[in-house]
Amino acid sequence: MQTRRDLLRAVITPAAGLALAEQMRAAEAEPFTLPPLPYPYDALEPHIDAKTMQIHHTGHHAAYVRNLNAAVAGRPALAGKTAEQLVSNLEALPAEVRTAIRNNGGGHVNHTLFWQIMSGKGGGEPRGELARAIEKTFGSYSRFQEEFSRTAMGVFGSGWAWLTVDAKGQLRIEPTPNQDTPISAGRTPILGVDVWEHAYYLKYQNRRADYVKAFYNVIHWDRVAELYLEAIRK
Ligand code: MN
Repeated sequence: MQTRRDLLRAVITPAAGLALAEQMRAAEAEPFTLPPLPYPYDALEPHIDAKTMQIHHTGHHAAYVRNLNAAVAGRPALAGKTAEQLVSNLEALPAEVRTAIRNNGGGHVNHTLFWQIMSGKGGGEPRGELARAIEKTFGSYSRFQEEFSRTAMGVFGSGWAWLTVDAKGQLRIEPTPNQDTPISAGRTPILGVDVWEHAYYLKYQNRRADYVKAFYNVIHWDRVAELYLEAIRK
């Protein structure tokens, strides 16, 4: 009688077995991939130029993905998690890779969100439930804008300004330094502006205020509103 083991021996030749093992190794080695932009590089012109978008995506974001893969390589317990799971509890990470995952896992989740919340057909004001929550929390859309811009301008050096949803479902505006994500503090980011110089220097040089002002023209409020509803229903 043929056992299951006999069958496996017959089916998996040494060559096929090696190929399979190699494929599994490759998948394990690179669990994170650079997501494509949901629009062409020039879609956000003239507010954010194509060259900046291209370098930002294929240079900066790609490097965070590469470095995150390197950080989890040979650590199956980490490689099986999502980037969001990895950065949600930094203290739980092995000390040797904690900083690398904080910076590059953060960089990966931050940029993945950033591309989604912009659109060439963006701008205007939020609608629906999100609009009501913004009015209730900040007084009005323009008061929200003032506080969000002030927060973006107040980031010293590299970092982000965020609109987040906290554990109680409340909106808040907060900065993070470097590639830190509000996810690590238990909050869900639904909108963020990257104020690293790499996000604006080619077009705006040192004029961060002009870049932040232009950013409002590309905010994809419908996507932000979806993320808001997902966050409050968590
Ligand atoms: Mn960036």
